[in-house]
Amino acid sequence: MALLEVKNLEVNYGMIKALKGISFEVNEGEIIALIGANGAGKTTTLHTVSGILPKAGGNIYLEGKDITKIPAHKLVQLGISQVPEGRRVFSQMTVLENLKMGAFTRKDKDSVIDKDLKDIYARFPRLEERKNQMAGTLSGGEQQMLAMGRALMSKPKILLLDEPSMGLSPILVSEIFDIIKSINESGTTILLVEQNAKKALSIANRAYVLETGNIAMSGDASELINDDNIKKAYLGE
Ligand code: ATP
Repeated sequence: MALLEVKNLEVNYGMIKALKGISFEVNEGEIIALIGANGAGKTTTLHTVSGILPKAGGNIYLEGKDITKIPAHKLVQLGISQVPEGRRVFSQMTVLENLKMGAFTRKDKDSVIDKDLKDIYARFPRLEERKNQMAGTLSGGEQQMLAMGRALMSKPKILLLDEPSMGLSPILVSEIFDIIKSINESGTTILLVEQNAKKALSIANRAYVLETGNIAMSGDASELINDDNIKKAYLGE
């Protein structure tokens, strides 16, 4: 059974059909990349899986359970956590306060949450150094780390990442992708939306290619990265 299964998902914005019945699966332990041009429907897919956007049709299952009608805040409790495009940290709150907000829906004791906070600091030492700094004054890369750390504080089964490389320098992009890989290696399944298809395919197990609301292609990332059509259309080769 897949950890996450999306079946015939349709999403409309008024008259615009943004997703026209897409289906895909994410198995436990995988990194799955969703790639595609601007406007293909990648962000819409993530927002729908995380429960922020209403569905016009189709179903979503988490560990076999139909979660199609479950609201976003409950989905966080069930193990789906999203890192939004453009990070969207709480800029008027400190790094530490942002991280604690990530654990907001958990019912664990403070001592358990403090232990998880330590784990986050071990993964992102920069966040510990800056724990009392206002999040809005962090650099772009640091804000991306904070947004990821905040999402991890909800102890997700699956982490949804929307364009983590956006606006970052090449060195930082590599650093963020290394971190994504290590988060995955520690046991968190990842659904990754990326414009930077090359980077995404380099760390993903499998990938789906979205084209104007449909899945045009899918397969092992190692095969897609060598596919001539993919190379031409998405890898700039
Ligand atoms: P990008 O890489 O540019 O972020 P994307 O693949 O994530 O693109 P989406 O943001 O999911 O694409 O958009 C899919 C389609 O839905 C686009 O045609 C977009 O214009 C449209 N769309 C997105 N949000 C809205 C909205 N709030 N109202 C109307 N149309 C929207």
